[in-house]
Amino acid sequence: MRLSQYYVPTLREDPAEADVISHKLLLRAGMIRKLTSGLYSFLPHGFRALNKICAIVRREMDAADCQEVLLPFVQPASLWQETGRWEVYGSELLRLKDRHQRDYCLGPTHEEVITDLVRDEIRSYRQLPVNLYQIQTKFRDEVRPRFGLMRCREFIMKDAYSFDRDENENEESYRTMQRAYERVFSGLGLSFCAVEADSGPIGGSQSHEFMVLAETGEDSLVLCSGCGYAANLEKAEVSPPQTGNAETNCPDPELIQTPGMHTVADVAAYLQIPHSRVLKTLLYKADDASVAALVPGDREINETKLANLLGASELELAHAEAVRSWSGAEVGFSGPLGLSVDRILADHTLLRESDWVCGANQDDAHYRHVRLDRDASVEQYADISTIREEDACPKCNSGLTLHKGIEVGHVFKLGTKYSSAMNATYLDAEGRERLMIMGSYGIGVTRLLAAAIEQNHDQDGCFFPPPIAPFEVELVHLAPQDETLAAAGETLRSAMEGIGADVLLDDRDERAGVKFKDADLLGSPMQVIVGKKGFEQGMVEVKDRKSGERTSLSLDRFSSEFSAWRNRVWHETWRLES
Ligand code: ATP
Ligand code: MG
Repeated sequence: MRLSQYYVPTLREDPAEADVISHKLLLRAGMIRKLTSGLYSFLPHGFRALNKICAIVRREMDAADCQEVLLPFVQPASLWQETGRWEVYGSELLRLKDRHQRDYCLGPTHEEVITDLVRDEIRSYRQLPVNLYQIQTKFRDEVRPRFGLMRCREFIMKDAYSFDRDENENEESYRTMQRAYERVFSGLGLSFCAVEADSGPIGGSQSHEFMVLAETGEDSLVLCSGCGYAANLEKAEVSPPQTGNAETNCPDPELIQTPGMHTVADVAAYLQIPHSRVLKTLLYKADDASVAALVPGDREINETKLANLLGASELELAHAEAVRSWSGAEVGFSGPLGLSVDRILADHTLLRESDWVCGANQDDAHYRHVRLDRDASVEQYADISTIREEDACPKCNSGLTLHKGIEVGHVFKLGTKYSSAMNATYLDAEGRERLMIMGSYGIGVTRLLAAAIEQNHDQDGCFFPPPIAPFEVELVHLAPQDETLAAAGETLRSAMEGIGADVLLDDRDERAGVKFKDADLLGSPMQVIVGKKGFEQGMVEVKDRKSGERTSLSLDRFSSEFSAWRNRVWHETWRLES
């Protein structure tokens, strides 16, 4: 491709609308343009990278015996009503009507459609197992579309669904897909890790997320240096205390005046006690129930764990009026004594102490010397707080570190959640009717492009991992008007293309400085620079965009020297296999 003819509208300045680096660079390098909130067009430079990502995903899915299909993007409400998700999926599901007033939605995921397809075709155990995938547009009406391709409303996902005869076979499918995902992400040239995850609205019994580590990631994860335990913060288990209820001689509760002290910090400072001795009481509306959740003042409630424990599909903090009516006091003075709520749940780390300070359910007052087992009616102690860096690993007690990550893939064991709701059965060898066991496996294809840039950029632009670069090589031609040099450039270009590298030739009549800047911005991992001086000496300069290292290759032996240098860039700079 010649840059003079390439439809790549670059921008000199950072666009004001973008606040993460990948979004800025995707716009500046002319890869995407915004249509409206959460909707983006892909221009040739972006689409080339996207197609290369898809090709690697396809290669690994095919290698894992997953077969490609293409399912409709528009889905009938009736299928979603069968599984009950029409009601529970919430406002991310964009619902619409056709001319006959029939209800549809735009597919945010395809469990229902694929289960419908398979239940109609598969009758016998001989037709199983089967694993089907597609690479296709999804629509989710996200509350806050942001960060460019990271969280869009319309995006491209690879989604795969496995159907197995029993748990063992399902376990095998799950592991096969985990391995395939590892090969996808390492094949793309990204550094990533797999973490235990919550299953969210997709449901099911077990799930892992694949995270590209990056500071701008919206997810937080915890990694253990001892045993390799890795989990999303939403999911990471907090161990119960080793020894419980240390102080047994707790005096009776005493009411104390705490005027205007709404926070744990206010109360702890006033009483000169650590935050960890103050009980935090948060009031929630969980579907239709009123719930109080208790955690120590130095910990945060984990709403994902709490919602799972309650089996609630909607969980939200109670509004001030509800707090007033359930507790009799304003926000900041709630406590478990004499509270009128349906359920009181407590974090199991609370079992380590038995003398607490908590809100008194009266304005401007707290109790001290509260013993939960004696003074309150706690329905259950469970793990409902978020892990912290200072906590021990729940598996091996070693130290933990917190990281930010971008979720680029998610694998789920679905069990029989969809097959039982939709009656997807087969006849086993004895002729008995059985439910198929399912798995579902997603990769955020468009989000991967953003993640690759978040992980690989500097102040001048991005540098794409070679397997997904729109062009692996940019040939920066400093004298395209010179006939001899132009011809030499063509020779080099065909030599590189001959060994499988795609080349963007900067043949524009521009100053060298402009060309170098644009080459850095456009992100080819390899630059080959053709100029008069080098040519006269029989040399051509090359630059490894990621390491910044420059080398000279001989014009006479260009093909073999380029090929060797290209291998070094792949293997040493990018640690890629081929
Ligand atoms: P998130 O927690 O980021 O909203 P999710 O758990 O809703 O993700 P899944 O339902 O597991 O996502 O979807 C599979 C993959 O699709 C995700 O791992 C992610 O890479 C991608 N994805 C999900 N939502 C979006 C979005 N709004 N924009 C771009 N990619 C997305
Ligand atoms: Mg989501």
